[in-house]
Order: sequence, then C-alpha cells, then structure tokens
Amino acid sequence: DNEVKRKPSWIRVKAPTSKTYLETRQLMRDHKLVTVCEEAACPNIGECWSKKHATMMILGSVCTRACAFCNVATGRPDKLDPHEPDEVAEAVAKMGLRHVVITSVDRDDLDDGGAGHFAQVIRKIRLMSPETTIEVLTPDFMRKEGALEIVVDARPDVFNHNLETVPRLYPGIRPGARYFHSLKILDRAKELDPTIFTKSGLMVGLGETKEEIYQVMDDMRSADVDFITLGQYLQPTPKHAIVDRFVTPDEFEAYKTIAYGKGFLMVASSPLTRSSYHADEDFARMRAE
Ligand code: SF4
Ligand code: SF4
Repeated sequence: DNEVKRKPSWIRVKAPTSKTYLETRQLMRDHKLVTVCEEAACPNIGECWSKKHATMMILGSVCTRACAFCNVATGRPDKLDPHEPDEVAEAVAKMGLRHVVITSVDRDDLDDGGAGHFAQVIRKIRLMSPETTIEVLTPDFMRKEGALEIVVDARPDVFNHNLETVPRLYPGIRPGARYFHSLKILDRAKELDPTIFTKSGLMVGLGETKEEIYQVMDDMRSADVDFITLGQYLQPTPKHAIVDRFVTPDEFEAYKTIAYGKGFLMVASSPLTRSSYHADEDFARMRAE
C-alpha cells in the first residue's frame, strides 16, 4: 500500500523557533547558500540550526540523479557559481564553526563530477578558518576518472560517502548508483590518504534485514571505514519510497553495540540520526578521547 505510515512516538520533531535558528537561516540567505537541512526536509533542522550546525549543499540545488528516498529536485542542474567557495567559507567563518559538513547534489553532467569545486571549497574554508575541521559528504563520482583524487588532495578531515542501503535494495532505492562502486570509493579514499577519517551511513526501515545490515557493516570495515551512521528512513512525500517499518530505539542501540564491536571508531545510531546529525559534537568527542 502507498499509505504514509503513522510516525511512532519516538520520531518527535520540535518546531524550529529559536533565535539562533533564525540567525542561521538569515546567514544562509545572505550568502545564497543551499542547505541539505532544508532541501532534504530534515527533521532535525530545529535542533541543528539552533546550535549553528548546518550542512551546506554546494554545486546547486538540482541533482542529475533521482534517488527514491531523496527530496532534492532532479533535472537540469544549475550553472556552477564561481563565488560559492568564498560564500561558503565566509559563512563558516561568521558562524565560528568548529566542524563543518559540506555536501552536494550529484553532477553527472560535469567532467569532474564537481570534484574541483569541492576542493576549492575545502581550501577556502581552511584559509579562513584554519581551526575548523572539515567533513565532505560527496557523490560517488561514477565514471569520473581522477575526481576522488582531487577531493582527497584538498585534505578534508573526514571523507564521507553514504552507502544508504543494503545492496539488494539498490535498484529500487538508489538507481544510478552501484553498491560496490560506492564501497570502493571509500576504500580508495583511505588508501590515498590514511590520515583522513572515512565515514559512511545507512538508512534503515526500507525493507532490509538485520543480517544484511551486519554484512554492510563488515563490508565497510573491510574498506577501512572509520565512522558509521544509522538512522530511520522517513518518507519525504507520498511520491517517495515507502517506509517498510519503523526500527525501534532498542534496535538502534543494538546496532550501535554491534558496530562498535566490529571496530568502528565512531557510531551514531538512533531514529533521527542523519549523516551530519551531531557530526560536530561526535567528531570533537572522538578526537578528545
Ligand atoms: Fe542539517 Fe544534518 Fe542537522 Fe539534518 S541532521 S538539520 S541535514 S545538519
Ligand atoms: Fe538526492 Fe544525492 Fe540521490 Fe541526488 S544523488 S537524488 S542529492 S541522494
């Protein structure tokens, strides 16, 4: 059935009202920045923006792919904005962020998949905010020879690429992507620069089994992935993939224990965990330990 399932009590989202939330929003508008927080209709926006934690989305707001879980618009992408690296770097400096997450739409139309632009953004942020740690959440750069190298060469602190779901569900959920290609990107990033932390994430509740999740965890570990995030998939609109089930908070806790047991350095696993949720706090904590 195509009915949108009722959300359980543990998926509670606070309405965004705080002063800092409004300031964050204004800053994004002033710098004409696109955020995944808004584009993906993220349920955590009230909380994150109130703590000045936002994830900037570069390379425009229109994606060349159409993943079944994603609320970002698909179509003819925008022209690259040459001022974007400066605008992002200025916003990061103004916000005084200790950790920033930069992501993007997929740009299969560009020769380098947008890698050069990513690298520029990283370098500009470094220049203006040398203390800020930088996490990039990149596309898979499929058929973009040399693109990954360009991003890694700019030395982000964390290289994040989400596997999103188990391989069996790829055709329906992530058409246009290939599980083993994405896994290889993570593996290769670590190989190119072992000082960069690698990170990946999964949405659960799409119809996967526990065994399949464990297999993905093992695959990630064999690709030397350091951090993992697990969160409940929520259907953004009735046109998107339906929620198979709501995974309980206890199950998320169990996943967390298992993931630590498999050797991940950092695990975030809860119903509202998103790839960038608490990324700033978690990274600071891990470095302090
Ligand atoms: Fe934005 Fe990530 Fe927070 Fe969602 S979890 S509001 S995408 S920073
Ligand atoms: Fe959304 Fe990324 Fe898929 Fe594009 S590639 S539709 S931005 S998840």
